[in-house]
Amino acid sequence: MFIENFKVDSPNVKYTETEIQSVYNYETTELVHENRNGTYQWIVKPKTVKYEFKTDTHVPKLGVMLVGWGGNNGSTLTGGVIANREGISWATKDNIQQANYFGSLTQASATRVGSFQGEEIYAPFKSLLPMVNPDDIVFGGWDISDMNLADAMARARVFDIDLQKQLRPYMESMVPLPGIYDPDFIAANQGDRANNVIKGTKREQINQIIKDIKEFKEANKVDRVVVLWTANTERYSNLVVGLNDTMENLFAAVDRNESEISPSTLFAIACVTENVPFINGSPQNTFVPGLIDLAIKRNTLIGGDDFKSGQTKMKSVLVDFLVGAGIKPTSIVSYNHLGNNDGMNLSAPQTFRSKEISKSNVVDDMVNSNGILYAPGEHPDHVVVIKYVPYVGDSKRAMDEYTSEIFMGGKSTIVLHNTCEDSLLAAPIILDLVLLAELSTRIQFKSEAENKFHTFHPVATILSYLTKAPLVPPGTPVVNALSKQRAMLENIMRACVGLAPENNMILEYK
Ligand code: NAD
Repeated sequence: MFIENFKVDSPNVKYTETEIQSVYNYETTELVHENRNGTYQWIVKPKTVKYEFKTDTHVPKLGVMLVGWGGNNGSTLTGGVIANREGISWATKDNIQQANYFGSLTQASATRVGSFQGEEIYAPFKSLLPMVNPDDIVFGGWDISDMNLADAMARARVFDIDLQKQLRPYMESMVPLPGIYDPDFIAANQGDRANNVIKGTKREQINQIIKDIKEFKEANKVDRVVVLWTANTERYSNLVVGLNDTMENLFAAVDRNESEISPSTLFAIACVTENVPFINGSPQNTFVPGLIDLAIKRNTLIGGDDFKSGQTKMKSVLVDFLVGAGIKPTSIVSYNHLGNNDGMNLSAPQTFRSKEISKSNVVDDMVNSNGILYAPGEHPDHVVVIKYVPYVGDSKRAMDEYTSEIFMGGKSTIVLHNTCEDSLLAAPIILDLVLLAELSTRIQFKSEAENKFHTFHPVATILSYLTKAPLVPPGTPVVNALSKQRAMLENIMRACVGLAPENNMILEYK
């Protein structure tokens, strides 16, 4: 059964005018390796840590500024939200299609809240905590191409033509602000697009971005802005001591106009300086150590990297399942054919390399979790190929072959072939990223050992379900397995309303 919303009644939860306050017992373990009776042994000690959470229930008017607004993702997301807001329906060759938010974890998935008279009861994921309604988001942003959003939508060739016709009047007047263009960081084949660029030094470019955000906020009367990079994949920046290793060195490098600071890092510096959350949806290392240092010092949310939309999402489910079932994946080979501008940009070796890196580490945590299957340091062969095939446009082909060793030397080969509009996968993920980023800035918590409430660590691991190569604070584990990432997010949200983590034990019926 499905219910629309619920309220928690518990001595551990208080709903005030402005906050939801909860007291939460976090059940965890402490591990020690100690000498007992002459032999070293691992000892696992269960422990309970008391936490308090408080969530600001005032939902702000949210502005979202996209870097690469006129791209396939940017125009698809903007059109999709307008279509939902305006209740647009359109004729396809099959039926009359209504706008929806399918593919969005927050808007189109459910969470189990309990059972009632022998039935499982589910509620919308978004009903866990007060969240911004995506229909109310004001969109804006930058692009190195000055094409308006209606023409950009047509260029993207993602939406059905009847929908495009209805969206055009809303999108014609939306024109991206000039972006920061540096041909050294993206493929040379993008040069023809770059007719809308901010001139000047790197410091002047940062100042212009800051000014743009302030003006956007003022003009649209929004309370909060989140900025998200959905522009071209850049090449990796070189990490150089004295250049981008600390906040101070990064600032000094900006002032020297150093060439090795990428446009995405300049956008991120501008946002973090202004305490505006910044999310990177592409694979490059925007978050150089100096930028992470800056985010920590300013306590401003940063999240990334690279949307986890299709092939990697499947991988982080399938490999988790295989390794969890005691089956040993030994070879994972992924091919992609892509015909959109992203595919064209990725046809250059340096930008492809960024994607290859972000796609390649996604099974590490699962492989490392099972020392019965894999010897220390042993890994499956893992190869990723991306080819630009203009004809297929945004409709990406992802072909994957998983070979595994099974019982008694047997082999199992699984082949997947997925055809799907890439931007229709990415757009709802962008939505979740900005909605959850905004929500997480309204949550504060403290453990029993702390005397002051604080926000989450600025490096937002809470977003990792949505990213291919989750950015984590230095020295913390990376979790790629999709079910764990979802459980982490869901259980933290449940903790905020005093609900225990979903443990799936269903003891009531045992
Ligand atoms: P796209 O090429 O259609 O859009 C990118 C836009 O960014 C273009 O309009 C381009 O003009 C603009 N741009 C480039 N450099 C810029 C800059 N410095 N400042 C401002 N604008 C700039 O690509 P897309 O399909 O929308 O994908 C966007 C990004 O998302 C890519 O990096 C892609 O790898 C990443 N991504 C996409 C998916 C997906 O499923 N669609 C999944 C993971 C990651």
